[in-house]
Amino acid sequence: MVFIMPKLSWKTESSWKSADNKKVFAFAEAYKKFLSECKTEREVVAWTVTAAKKKGFKRYDNAPKPGKRYYFTSGEKAVALVIIGRRKKELRISAAHADSPRIDLKPRPVTEDSDLALFKGHYYGGIKKYQWVNHPLALHGVIFKEDGSRVDVKMGEKEGEPVFVVPDLLPHLAKKQMEKKAAEVIEGEALAVIAGGTPADSKEDKFKNTVLDVLHKKYGVKEEDLASAELELVPASKPADVGIDKSMIMAYGQDDRSSCYTSIQALFQAPKIPENTLAVFLFDREEIGSVGLGGASTNFLENVFMKIYGLETARSLLENSRILSADVTAGVNPLYKEAYDMSNATYLGRGVAVAKYTGSGGKSGSSEAPAEYMAWVRKILNKNKVPWQTGELGKVDLGGGGTVALFLAKQGASVVDIGVCLLSMHSPAEVSSKVDIYNMYRAVSAFFKEK
Ligand code: MN
Ligand code: MN
Repeated sequence: MVFIMPKLSWKTESSWKSADNKKVFAFAEAYKKFLSECKTEREVVAWTVTAAKKKGFKRYDNAPKPGKRYYFTSGEKAVALVIIGRRKKELRISAAHADSPRIDLKPRPVTEDSDLALFKGHYYGGIKKYQWVNHPLALHGVIFKEDGSRVDVKMGEKEGEPVFVVPDLLPHLAKKQMEKKAAEVIEGEALAVIAGGTPADSKEDKFKNTVLDVLHKKYGVKEEDLASAELELVPASKPADVGIDKSMIMAYGQDDRSSCYTSIQALFQAPKIPENTLAVFLFDREEIGSVGLGGASTNFLENVFMKIYGLETARSLLENSRILSADVTAGVNPLYKEAYDMSNATYLGRGVAVAKYTGSGGKSGSSEAPAEYMAWVRKILNKNKVPWQTGELGKVDLGGGGTVALFLAKQGASVVDIGVCLLSMHSPAEVSSKVDIYNMYRAVSAFFKEK
């Protein structure tokens, strides 16, 4: 007699097979446009507010009613979009972060050496410093003058505009450098970019003065104004398709703007008057631990709902909330398979990654989604035929990472990490799969629509 085994095992496979290619590729084009327009957290926030206004979101008016759409900001660097729901039972929130690793300019950035002017940088977030040299960089940011007036800076994006570059040492003279550990090959202080190369007609600081003169003519600023500025060096490169089948996207900032964009689009498609109050939060400062103004560790989340519901109701609603900590994870890189536990790894194209926990060294420093909530999330994804896979960052002892999840869990809410997986995360050229991006949008949509 032959015993026929019931289907008990669970396999995940490429979701391209079941994908609606037309929708996947169309969504990817709009996403690429968003990425090329939003290379700093301030740009993400400004873009979000502009897009939200077109969809009927307004600044808070103290008269919340079901169906009303509001936006809230924390400075210009974090934003929340809220649609008031019919009932006051729970909140449904997708929370992502709008900041990405980069090189910030120091408060006194302009120096000169060896007949070259330089901008000195201080990197932000966890980067492999050697990835940021010899790469065209654009300068984005704001300068605030003493009188409070604001100057927007964007240089290196348009055809014909100058770019900036961190010059590396040539191989011919790099014998000593090549013996260093990768973490030390490029020192933090060596993340400075070339800013100019012609001398001004001055007694001293000739090369520095040329740069200051250009900045003054173009933006009306003096050197001291740079002390009240936020200037970020970001990759000047545009998002591009990868693979001869154009199935992937290479672009800067997909951690975590893939979650920002997909969450916003999902919210825009939400029912006019949803059952539960729905919200998207885009935080700043995640890449340095979520601390500081605009970060998820601040009271921004509570304050938004306190304004709408009053403190007591807000607290109990937050406690009953279902939250997605929308963030990316690591996709298997076939060139470095030794870094992954292949049976628990996340694969490009296999759908959204649902990570029960993140952290490092024995789940340290992370939140963990309760099994009950994992079951609910799984049910929603399966019901809506959204391909998904589990997310574990890599082999247990190799490192790790965190998200905003633990700061949201502080409210007593159910929180789970969910997002697309990337190759080359935190590099100037992160790679995602277009089908995963589209399915992340579908996942958040399903989450918002579920009653
Ligand atoms: Mn992230
Ligand atoms: Mn990150």
